[in-house]
Amino acid sequence: VGAAPGDLLLRDVRPGGTAIADVAIRDGLIVSSGVPLDGWAGPVVEGGGRLLLPGLVDGHAHLDKTLWGLPWRRHTAGVGLAALIENERVGRRELPPVAERAAALLEAYVAAGTSHVRTHVDVDPGLKLASIEGKLEARERMEARIDVQIVAFPQSGLLVQPGTAGLLECAIEAGADLVGGLDPAGFDRDADGHLDAVFGISDRQGCGVDIHLHDGGELGRDTVRKIVERTRALGLAGRVTISHAFCLADAPEAEVEPLLEQLVEQRISLATVAPGSRPPLPLLRLRELGIDVCLGQDGIRDLWSPYGDADMLSRAERLAWRAGFRRDEDIEAALHTVTTAGARVLGVDGYGLDPGCAADLVLVEAETRAEAVVAHPPCRTVIKCGRVVSPD
Ligand SMILES: [Zn+2]
Repeated sequence: VGAAPGDLLLRDVRPGGTAIADVAIRDGLIVSSGVPLDGWAGPVVEGGGRLLLPGLVDGHAHLDKTLWGLPWRRHTAGVGLAALIENERVGRRELPPVAERAAALLEAYVAAGTSHVRTHVDVDPGLKLASIEGKLEARERMEARIDVQIVAFPQSGLLVQPGTAGLLECAIEAGADLVGGLDPAGFDRDADGHLDAVFGISDRQGCGVDIHLHDGGELGRDTVRKIVERTRALGLAGRVTISHAFCLADAPEAEVEPLLEQLVEQRISLATVAPGSRPPLPLLRLRELGIDVCLGQDGIRDLWSPYGDADMLSRAERLAWRAGFRRDEDIEAALHTVTTAGARVLGVDGYGLDPGCAADLVLVEAETRAEAVVAHPPCRTVIKCGRVVSPD
């Protein structure tokens, strides 16, 4: 049988940490796993016993904001959300175009074995759709190597910035995939008004929703209830994500439990960024309940945060460390957020290592999944649609 583009044989790899096997890929899809193949005519990657994982997923990034590739910049922002927003509004004027910075960062994501990224992209009356257009351009440039989902994000507020709701809807029409929100109660001061605007756009445009919710305590939990109500009313089960959701981590589990049951019922997923300054989400309990949690870098080397590096394995290590995980099976739960759970949050079809799955894969110099998280070795072979995309 002759070879076609998207055909590839991975020889001597350990899928998910199991015994050494060969994995055959045809036309960008995994066709067999575990069976040594004789007479393969196509290209071969020698695995050398390395661990094979499905492509990594970043479920919460802000690629339009990054300073990736630029000289180090001193972080001088004040304290608090409003100060950070203002710091960015002033500082962003001097930056090179979004398309350039975002594409440079996407190159780093590819090299680290990432196959899917969900990025929030700022929309406000000052920027209008400029960042969305820049991000769309970067996505197109990189489309053969990484899949990018764009959330139209009201970073400066929605109702407090008149005109933003209309711009968010235009962003969806221009090619953004989901509509975002930001602290409907704490920042926008009108949870119902904010959520009605966001869910109205979702309903009219048929797009998913991903809302930043930093508000803690009862204020945050009340917003979660309002999000659940609207998800149920509009039949959006499985298409809504709450990012951060600190309010689910800052109360005893028993108090949060009834709310978690509602998230299960509406298949509302969560995105965390493993922040150092807030208590971690109850990851193991959420997994037990079947609530999908993805992990994200959040801002990467930008005017919000000097941290971040596009490596989702090192981010998974931070999540595991913050959660106090030591046992391999718990560390594997952290890996789950940047693989299977992340893909479920993003609604990626055909994700995994089984025959029939898309051949979006990464080979890592590690023996087990837990070791891949803890050691996150930098040298990786990255495959997208059956083609080696890094190193190229
Ligand atoms: Zn964010």
